[in-house]
Amino acid sequence: MKKTVICPGSFDPVTRGHLDIINRAARMFDCVIVGVLVNSAKNPSFSIEERIDFLREATKELDNVKVVSFDGLLAEYCRQNNVDAVVRGLRAVSDFEYEFQMALTNKKLNPQLETIFLSADADAMYLSSSMVREVASMGGDISNFVPECIHDKIVRGLRK
Ligand code: ADP
Repeated sequence: MKKTVICPGSFDPVTRGHLDIINRAARMFDCVIVGVLVNSAKNPSFSIEERIDFLREATKELDNVKVVSFDGLLAEYCRQNNVDAVVRGLRAVSDFEYEFQMALTNKKLNPQLETIFLSADADAMYLSSSMVREVASMGGDISNFVPECIHDKIVRGLRK
């Protein structure tokens, strides 16, 4: 049976760290949904449309990846869309507590749903969207941090 997973997140904006996780998930599973969270409590720097555009551009060569927005409970989205597992990237021990809590909560809400953790790539484990925003807003070079094809758009968006 085909396996579908979801990589959920804010992606504000997508970084090379996110892309590494998406690429690896795309090699392991039949279908990867990248789910961009609409109702994040955070006040995003990029609109939902911009974040989706960046992700679509960055994943355009991956045939089994689709980018969608979602609102509400992840466990419910997965139930309604026959998603088998959530894939999350783990950067450090500091990510673990929150991620473990989320995984257990989602399992309670939807017992069919598994959570799979992929360890961050050693070259990307320091990367976060907030760090990218901070460096770019102060005029720093973010070319090592974000996918090349969307670098200029991200820089323009963060300097406006
Ligand atoms: P959220 O607000 O849900 O944490 P993010 O957009 O920050 O959303 O992250 C989405 C997913 O990508 C999470 O699983 C996060 O741990 C993972 N992630 C973020 N940055 C990296 C990175 N540099 N390397 C690997 N995984 C990462």
